[in-house]
Amino acid sequence: MKLILLGAPGAGKGTQAERLSRRLGLAHVASGDLFRQAQDRGTQLGLLAKRYMEKGMLVPDEITIKMIEERISAPDCKRGFILDGFPRTVNQAKALDSAMEKRGADIDKVLYIEVSSEELVRRLSGRWICRACQTPYHILSSPPKMAGKCDRCGGELYQRPDDSEETARKRLDVYFSQTTPLIEYYRTQGKLAEVDGQGNIGRVERDLLGVIEGVQTGGR
Ligand SMILES: [Zn+2]
Repeated sequence: MKLILLGAPGAGKGTQAERLSRRLGLAHVASGDLFRQAQDRGTQLGLLAKRYMEKGMLVPDEITIKMIEERISAPDCKRGFILDGFPRTVNQAKALDSAMEKRGADIDKVLYIEVSSEELVRRLSGRWICRACQTPYHILSSPPKMAGKCDRCGGELYQRPDDSEETARKRLDVYFSQTTPLIEYYRTQGKLAEVDGQGNIGRVERDLLGVIEGVQTGGR
């Protein structure tokens, strides 16, 4: 079972990839971890990627795809894998397709966790911190009893620029401008399955598992 998990920042993609990989015995291949691991092990590709990152440049697709190829050839990927954070662009998806073709394999399904922009903004910009004692709050998951005031010490709550609504909207704009064509690419291939990501973690997981079972029983 070879899966790709897509979802905007705040959609819960990483959490779901972890849960699915544990439940299904598939390797969780997160692109962020991949760069770190390759650098820790000091592989040629890892060192090459590091040189770009140190200069503040994007790691070129050829290097990233080679790292993915290396990773999915590892023994723990024999039963299958879940790609999380890759591909990000249509070019990367095309490179992945030809890499898979060389191995006589194919991606089985692309699962897209769909959450409305407004909900994503709420999730990404809900973090507030107490100026006095640094206790963190989140307006959705752990709101303070009184708006703008710390439960513990009564201190004023403030928002870091990284957690602001403006930053959230900018991040999402970048994500959607890259990913909308990617979603179309997989839809055209007939591999895309959209899952509603607005519910709780358990329900979203059940919906994802339902799609995967459909693939396993041959309902592609
Ligand atoms: Zn406080």
